[in-house]
Parts: sequence; structure tokens; C-alpha cells
Amino acid sequence: MANVNELPVFSLIEPAHVVADISRLISESRVAVESLLDVGGGYSWSNLIEPLENIEDKINKTWSPIGHLNSVKNSEAFREAYNACLPILSEYTTDMGQNGRLFEAYRLFADSEEYKLLGHAEKRVVENALRDFRLSGVHLPSEQKKRFKEIAQELSRLGSRFQDNLLDATQAWTKLIVDERLLEGLPATAKAQARDAAKAKELTGWLFTLDFPSYFAVVTHASDRSLREEMYTAYVTRASERGPDSGKWDNTEIMEQLLALRYEEARLLGYDDFAELSLSTKMASSAEEVIGFLYKLADSARPQALRDLAELREFAKSQLGLPTLEAWDIAYVSEKLKQSKYSLSEEEVREYFPASRVIHGLFLVVEQLFGLKIKEESGVDVWHQDVTYYEIHDEQGDLRGAFYLDLYARSSKRGGAWMDECISRRRSLSGKLQIPVAFLTCNFTPPSDGGGSGLLRHDEVVTLFHEFGHGLQHMLTKVDCLGVSGIHGVEWDAVELPSQFMENFCWEPEALKLISAHYQTGESLPHALLQKMVQARNFLSGMQMLRQIEFSLFDFVLHKQYDLSQGGQVYSVLQSIREQVSVLRPPEFNRFAHSFSHIFGGGYAAGYYSYKWAEVLSSDAFSLFEEEGVFNKQCGAKFLSCILESGGTRSAMDLFVAFRGREPRVDALLRHNGIEAAA
Ligand code: ZN
Repeated sequence: MANVNELPVFSLIEPAHVVADISRLISESRVAVESLLDVGGGYSWSNLIEPLENIEDKINKTWSPIGHLNSVKNSEAFREAYNACLPILSEYTTDMGQNGRLFEAYRLFADSEEYKLLGHAEKRVVENALRDFRLSGVHLPSEQKKRFKEIAQELSRLGSRFQDNLLDATQAWTKLIVDERLLEGLPATAKAQARDAAKAKELTGWLFTLDFPSYFAVVTHASDRSLREEMYTAYVTRASERGPDSGKWDNTEIMEQLLALRYEEARLLGYDDFAELSLSTKMASSAEEVIGFLYKLADSARPQALRDLAELREFAKSQLGLPTLEAWDIAYVSEKLKQSKYSLSEEEVREYFPASRVIHGLFLVVEQLFGLKIKEESGVDVWHQDVTYYEIHDEQGDLRGAFYLDLYARSSKRGGAWMDECISRRRSLSGKLQIPVAFLTCNFTPPSDGGGSGLLRHDEVVTLFHEFGHGLQHMLTKVDCLGVSGIHGVEWDAVELPSQFMENFCWEPEALKLISAHYQTGESLPHALLQKMVQARNFLSGMQMLRQIEFSLFDFVLHKQYDLSQGGQVYSVLQSIREQVSVLRPPEFNRFAHSFSHIFGGGYAAGYYSYKWAEVLSSDAFSLFEEEGVFNKQCGAKFLSCILESGGTRSAMDLFVAFRGREPRVDALLRHNGIEAAA
């Protein structure tokens, strides 16, 4: 039985009650905040900050499982309830941020004698709060305050609609194949999967969908070029006016509105544009710094990318009889070239990564690194039979955190992989400690009746380690104040440090021994196969790096150069970025931006660059382990205390320097990607 108190009871969350419950909670919270302020002065941690944290924590804990269910068990009723709550929550957040009396109370407290004696963490909570008042427009005249509030509500509504459209468009398209000859080249696992999908709908044949595992298998393996083209076209036009659904879930207008409103919000707050506003809470100090960083990386990656592309083209022509390399050929040709260069097949590799072994191995890795013990607990209420629940204990035997793991793709579940907070760590003044709980969500190929029970591709293993890294920062924090515990208060462009750090272990022989075992023989990954994987690790890394840089620049420049009179110009900005940095041009009909949910439906707007930014930190951090030993105990302990336990108590730069003994350098990132620095 689980040891964490007060876990959400998912089975009792009824869409019909959600709106009333949230409305009531928000009204109560408003009353509670006002009554705090009635004191009228003499503010202290215990009569101001602590009670406010209580209020915030209660809202978080109520809302988090609702938002989670909306993402992983979406239904018409649930979606309606969720969307109806968004304006209520957004209005409350803005009202709190614009509450002049509350702002004044914080300012008085920040001037008090008590404040001077506070620790780092507590001071940072107050500093961040003062900053966030300003970012909510507390200083604006009332007309503008009102406008700010409308914008915030509209942004939250539009972000959710963007995601809903994407999910609907993804689910609306399927492809039934009855002639097995068309499936030539597809691995047995993918076929079994498609067979199951057809059966589930009482169809005969093989049913393919735009869920990532299904789409990816076809474009990577199907010999039939027109099938690849058809799937590719459907996938890259999702939620656009070119979609196979005649544009029913077209995100075009939503993207335009989002960009316009973000720009207006930034201007209201006195920033030049939304990119400037985005940077106000990040580690990077200026737009020039971000753009300069990305171009410099692009300069380094470009020569390698050009060589990658030439090699692909040549191989496609001479070995596969493809005179041109089309967008729907790239994954396919890449896979064939990889097999021929390294005689490495992803399908052979995945036989060594049954999900259960990988998970167990992941736990052993963090046990060796950080002394953690992770154990599955039964009897916990979950939202789907595949979901498992675990608890983490540390070397001293203390319970540090818990998480739900939801691994597999299924309908009604949003695509991608993510970590989300279910419950956050905090200690109340009475001394009671709240244990943090995380949601870890992936969309891996589900186990099938037809064979290959839950075998993960190696990139899925990497994804699991990535999300687990986020989870570790959320769950291992030792910070007791809600505002800076876990990932709270960590600059967004440093948030990918623990996640990308953990990815590195998926390439280390010592770790691979723990996470691999052939699904039939139980043999761990043979050295020869690992050798091949390591050699192939940086296969096409130049092209991949440029692609990430292209996305990052596109997002940043789109927000930086927004012009009120001309609108977003989404695709012309994308086009111009591609002309500057990319070696490949996708076809004209490609509507990549229409499904770029990180920046239109998530929190990465003018912040997608964070992945590359934080990769400098994560690669450089990992290089210490390369120097000292991958499972070096001292390094593990240091990473634990400086990074994973410290939350947002200090700036990300300070914490990094505390860990590494110096400021970050880009060398390790380039080396890990097999790229030489540009002169
Ligand atoms: Zn991440």
C-alpha cells in the first residue's frame, strides 16, 4: 500500500462535478486571501506567505489531476469541463497578480526585519513573487489591467483549443490496409500493432494511425514509397487547412490570435515584444545572446549536416534506386543507410529493451548514482490498467517522492512524453512534510498480442530517461517552500538540465548492462551491438542538430519580429530561417507549425531554444562523470545536492557553478554530438 497521503482518487473525478468544484474552491480562495489582508500590516512569513502557500497548494492539488485526466483520458465531457475551468483559473491568477493590497503586503514584508533574516529559499520566493506581480500588470491603470486579464484568459483558451484540434486531427485519420504486400519492410512488431488496432475496431487487415509509433514505423520501414508519402502528408498537415479532414481542425487562426495577443501582452507590460517578456524569467539575458548562441551552434553543425545529406542522397540513388530524396524518404533511407554502415537495425536493438527490464534498470541506475530505492506499490487508484505507481526512498530510508508511470500510446491520450506535477514538496509551519508526487507520461508502442511484448526502441528508452530526469528534480527536492521547491522557480531554459543529463546514461556500457536483456534469451546487450550503437550514435547528428536549431530560431524570431500590421507571417518566417540555417527544405504543403504544440499549446513560446541552451549545461555536467567515472558516488552526490535537491533557491548559473566549479562550456555538447566547433 502507498505511503503517500492524500493521493487523488481519479476514479471519483466526475466531469459533471469539475466546474462546480473548481468554482467553489476559487471563491473560497478569494475570500481567504482577502481575510489575510484584513490584518492591514505587520506582515510575517506565518501570517502572509505560509497561508498563501496553503491556498495555492490546495488549488494545485485539485487542478493537477483534472488537467492530467484531460491529457491522458480525454473525452467530450471531460474536455468541456476542463475548458470551462480555464477562464475561472486564469481570472483568479490575474486577479491575484494584480491585487494591489496583496502586492503592498509583499512589499511591506520585504522591508521588514524578519525578511532580512530569512534563508535563500524564502527570500527567493518573495523576490519571484514581487517580479510576478509586475508581470501580471499590478502597476497598470485599471483599463489596461482589465485588458491584461482578458488577454490572459484568451491565451489560456486558445492554447487549449490548439491542443484539442491537434488531438482530434490526429485521431480522425486512419489508413486500413488489406493487402499484406503493401506492408513489405515493416517489422513484425509494427504489423502486430496495426493488426491489433484493426481488430479493436472490428476490421480485417492492418490499421495505421497518426499516433507516433504507428506513423514512425511506416515512414521508417515501409518499402512502398506511396504509402510513406501518404502517411507523411497526413501527418505533416494535421490541424491545418491542408489536413485530410478538409481543414476541420485548422489551427491557422488560433496561431495568429495567440501571436497577436502575446505581443499585446508584452507591450502592455512595457516590453518590446513577447521574446523580451519571455526572457524576463529566463537564464539567457538578452535576445541577442539567444540568437547569437543558436547561430554559432548552426555554424558548427552545418558542415557536418551537409556531409550527412550528401551521403543520404548518394545512398538513396546508388543503393535504393531513388533518384530524388523526398521528405517521406528521409527516415526510410536513413534507416537503410544506418543498417548498411553499422549493420545496426533498430528492430534488432529493441529486442534487448523489454519495457519491464528498462524500467527496472533505470531504477538500478539511479540507485547507483544517488542511492535511491524505488519500489512499485499496489492498491493505488489509477486512470488506466497500464498505469503503475512507485515510491522512492533514499539511502537513509526516507520516503522522498512517488510517481505514476503511464507508458503506452492509446487513443484519447495526447501525443508526446512529459513529466507533470501531481503534488509538490513543502513543509508547513507545523512541520508536516508533503511528499512530492509526479506524473510520468510517454507514448510508447504498446505491447501487442501478436508478439514483441512491450519492446522499446532505443530512442524511447532515451525519452523515458529524459522524463525521469524531470521527475527526479520534482521529487528529490529538499526545499520546503512551495514557490522554489522542485522545478518551481527554476529558469525555464535551465529546466532541461536534469532531463537531458539522464539521457546520457542510455549510451554508457555500465548502465546498458542494467537496462537491457533480450526478451527471449535474457542476455544483456552484446558488446558488439553496443559498439555499433555507439558508432551510430552520431549518425546524421549534423542534420538533427540543425533541425533543432531551426525550430528554436523559428520560435524565437517569430515572437521577436511580430509586427502588428502584418500579423504572424508564420510560414514566411519559417521559410527565411530555413534559408539561413537548414540543409533540407520540406515540401511546400508541410504544415509543421500547425502541430508545434510546445510553443502554441504549451509553455515553450519564445523558449524552445531552452533545449539547446540546457544541453550545454547537461552535457557539461555529464562530462564530469566521464572524467570521474559514470557511476562515481561523489559526483552523484554533488549532482543530487547542487542540482536535483536545490530547486529554484538560487539562479541556475549559481547552482551550475556550485556543481561544476566553473561556468558552463559548449565543448562537451559538440563532442557528444560528434561535431567540431566552428572556427
Ligand atoms: Zn524535457
